[in-house]
Amino acid sequence: MSDCLFCKIVAGEVPSTKVYEDDSVYAFLDIAPQAPEHIVIVPKNHLGSTNEIDSENSAVVGKVFEAAAKIAAERGFAEKGYRIVNNCGEDGGQTVGHLHFHLLAGRNLQWPPG
Ligand code: 5GP
Ligand code: ZN
Repeated sequence: MSDCLFCKIVAGEVPSTKVYEDDSVYAFLDIAPQAPEHIVIVPKNHLGSTNEIDSENSAVVGKVFEAAAKIAAERGFAEKGYRIVNNCGEDGGQTVGHLHFHLLAGRNLQWPPG
């Protein structure tokens, strides 16, 4: 997936501000934050979107949520609260074709989203 922006970020070929990393996932600050805390969490192995999750690879989604809980605790917003968002496909607002989860915090997030 040499043409994938988030694969390049995981590989260190495109710079990012790393927040968290383990064997399965990489997390970094979003370049256009939509909240005081806006972190993008991605599986290290390329998956295009939620549409590609199946019984063979779905364990990484648990790893993403484990990472989110750790990041929330480390950055001090676990108690106050946060939101995890996955945009899938055109109508879902997905702009980067590598599965990722937005971790948003630091303000009172509204519902429903736009
Ligand atoms: P999506 O719209 O696909 O759900 O989310 C993609 C996210 O990636 C957006 O929030 C966008 O700001 C972020 N993003 C796009 N390009 C870059 C980049 O080069 N670096 C970082 N850190 N974030 C990016
Ligand atoms: Zn990728």
